[in-house]
Amino acid sequence: MIRGARVEINLKNLSLNLRKIKKKGGNRPVIAVVKADAYGHGATEVSKRLSKEGVHLFGVAFIGEAINLRESGIKEEILIFFDQDVTPEIPRYKLTPVVNSLRYARELSRLAKASGTRISCHINVDTGMGRMGLNSRGLFKDIERILSLEGLEVRGIMSHFSDADLKDPDFASEQLRAFKEIKDTLKLPDKCIFHMANSAATVKLPEAYLDALRPGLILYGINAFTNERFYPVMSVKSRVISLRRLKKGTSVSYGRTFITTRDSLVGVVPIGYADGLLRAASNKVEFLVRGKRVPVVGRICMDLTMVDLTDVKGVKEGDEVVILGRQGQQEIGAQEIAERTNTIPYEVLTSLGRLNKRVFV
Ligand SMILES: *Cc1c(COP(=O)(O)O)cnc(C)c1O
Repeated sequence: MIRGARVEINLKNLSLNLRKIKKKGGNRPVIAVVKADAYGHGATEVSKRLSKEGVHLFGVAFIGEAINLRESGIKEEILIFFDQDVTPEIPRYKLTPVVNSLRYARELSRLAKASGTRISCHINVDTGMGRMGLNSRGLFKDIERILSLEGLEVRGIMSHFSDADLKDPDFASEQLRAFKEIKDTLKLPDKCIFHMANSAATVKLPEAYLDALRPGLILYGINAFTNERFYPVMSVKSRVISLRRLKKGTSVSYGRTFITTRDSLVGVVPIGYADGLLRAASNKVEFLVRGKRVPVVGRICMDLTMVDLTDVKGVKEGDEVVILGRQGQQEIGAQEIAERTNTIPYEVLTSLGRLNKRVFV
């Protein structure tokens, strides 16, 4: 074996999530966020599937991610949220950069002229994220300046909520108000779309839908914001490679953080923090074996993790272990792992999805 765990990506569930989002959004266009290798799900396969389902716009963080998608055959428009490189690859691959400053817009305009083409772009406005985007007092003037630059075709205006889970509705409303003011004040090209709705807004703030939705997390089936169910796309599975009988009072793994309180049957599972199973999950999360929840015991190692299988009848070496996903009646979700390890499901998905062998089902 190369690594001991595998990631299963259920593309059908991805389609179901997209359809659910489209329906919520009254059929508005969906800008599918596929940055960080589609949150660890495989950007190429995910984008191909979504493009078959009618998605015309994708969002990534960096130019390299967009080029990979182009080279694997994605012809749809690709928005680049963060990259600040000014490179001939932008027109060559027909990419759509997001303009986060007047300076960058001017450089893109020069690049367009030099390449004898027009470059499509969207403008990002900072309404309270404090990260990227236009935020000067002369905001409206700056947007007008960008609109007048030769060689640039502004196709959209975007902003981003700072409260990714929208726990503070007042701040989110203020961001939305500031964003809408731009729409109501400036004369923008007819085809220019306004978009701000991330996953949280998609499930709980319909006022933010505007012209297009821009979800990431819920596309992958994780709704960390409301009770509405989506369809988890990623599962992570492995097998018991060794079963050991340990006497009561035996310590397990580095640092002896777990000591058996009875004669125990402990299983060794070949997945560790090198495979993106966060070490912070040691002694905190559960896996599934033979349809039962079993606790991880002792520190998670680089390549191995131990589970207490004493209560699992008939367990054998080679039995399937589910780290994330469903087995029988039980399910372990990314949100559950995140809560137990004091992080967010985004980190759980990108960590587990990064290294492990991926299969598409
Ligand atoms: C990551 C990202 C999103 C998607 O956020 P989710 O919370 O996953 O829906 C949307 N817009 C921008 C600019 C992002 O960086």
